[in-house]
Amino acid sequence: MPAKASDTINFKHMKGDFAIYSRRVVLPEGIVPATIFVENGKVVRIIEGKVVNAQCPLESVGKQVLMPGCIDAHVHINEPGRTEWEGFDTATRAAAAGGITSLVDMPLNSDPVTTTADDFIQKINATSGKLHVNCGFWGGLVPGNTDELEGMIKMGILGIKAFLSDSGIEDFQNVLRHDLNEGMPIIAAYDLPILVHCEIEDLDRDNSRLKKNPTSYKAYLKSRPKSWENKAVELMVELCGKHDCKTHIVHLSSAKALPTIWAAKSAKLPLTVETCPHYLYFCADDIPDGNTLFKCAPPIRGKKNNEQLWQALSDDLIDYIATDHSPAPPDLKEIESGNLLKAWGGISSLQFLLPVMWTASKKRGHSVEKLVNWLSDRPAQLAGLKTKGKIAVGYDADFVVWNPEEEFTVTEELVEHRHKVSPYIGERLFGKVTQTYVNGIKVFEEGEMVELNKGSLLLKRESEIGKSIVEEVYK
Ligand SMILES: [Zn+2]
Repeated sequence: MPAKASDTINFKHMKGDFAIYSRRVVLPEGIVPATIFVENGKVVRIIEGKVVNAQCPLESVGKQVLMPGCIDAHVHINEPGRTEWEGFDTATRAAAAGGITSLVDMPLNSDPVTTTADDFIQKINATSGKLHVNCGFWGGLVPGNTDELEGMIKMGILGIKAFLSDSGIEDFQNVLRHDLNEGMPIIAAYDLPILVHCEIEDLDRDNSRLKKNPTSYKAYLKSRPKSWENKAVELMVELCGKHDCKTHIVHLSSAKALPTIWAAKSAKLPLTVETCPHYLYFCADDIPDGNTLFKCAPPIRGKKNNEQLWQALSDDLIDYIATDHSPAPPDLKEIESGNLLKAWGGISSLQFLLPVMWTASKKRGHSVEKLVNWLSDRPAQLAGLKTKGKIAVGYDADFVVWNPEEEFTVTEELVEHRHKVSPYIGERLFGKVTQTYVNGIKVFEEGEMVELNKGSLLLKRESEIGKSIVEEVYK
């Protein structure tokens, strides 16, 4: 535990850029009243209790919770090329407003997609002047680009994403077993994770019900059965063992895949799993027909399935939560027609990760500490962000200050995403974010951005991956 403010310490010598005190600071050891000293963007000292006579400004946030900023490791920012869908400026504003201090961008649906070193340079250039929180990047594995993986890795990508089914983006084709057999040894050599969209389409896919009745949610659900996910998870568990490559299953929705995951984890395979707020907060039984805002792949399933996902989360079979924020302009969402066959699949939710998860967790009796595991600590570990995800000495001063008891209604006016289109609009949620700190700088306070462009690029460096790297490319 940290030293106490009541101990005989001379606080007058304690300097820092500032200190922040809360009666509820979430430390790895538990929730305590504490004063956190910050210098040059890092936590330099933690004292239990309130320090009033230190030689630096003190911000007191009373009994609001002070915890490590959330890390959303699954975000589709879509810039460059599809900035009309979402972009770095709007996405990172939304993140800051939601208490997310770091996010990791997916290699699609930007144009170009991030599947070569040259594409990655374009991606990096597109962030210039627009990062209001920290941002890292996943590269992509597509058929025929295994020669590009090392180039992207040496430029600082955090891991590699692949699809096992149609991604919906022509330039990002899904891989087959042989592509994974070629790519995974390269990814494993750098000790990075491969992240996989786990659905394998049945060859005799039956879309007839959905074609006949394209606004029926039940028909949409039937068109992407659990068996697709289960089969894909089995394949990835097999290849994870074969190549000893860190393997991460993104957005798990089928609870039927959990026994396979349990067996893999029991065998100590390097397998991790995420699910998303929408699979936990909503359920198929309540989704009205013709409402395309709920369309995502894999789909939101029934109540019993979703309760099993909750159980898996509390048993650590599912490691963490990510939003899979994947917005599109309203016309592509077919909002008017309600056509689930034609609508772009993807749920817009980045800004509401923390309150949605808190509202649903609180109902089930889960603690704020559990939330920190799911939203900060474990996503930091997967992305290899060694100084993030905790409030501890030497860690980055990325914090969120929020009020778990305060309720609010999600309104269009609150939404900072490019398009004010989300199934969460109108929901009443607990957990209001009041302040967000990025790299030791307060960037968001009481509904307003107070500092812009304070985020950093999160790129793996030579010292971290143990191979030569071209560090001079950026910064
Ligand atoms: Zn996604």
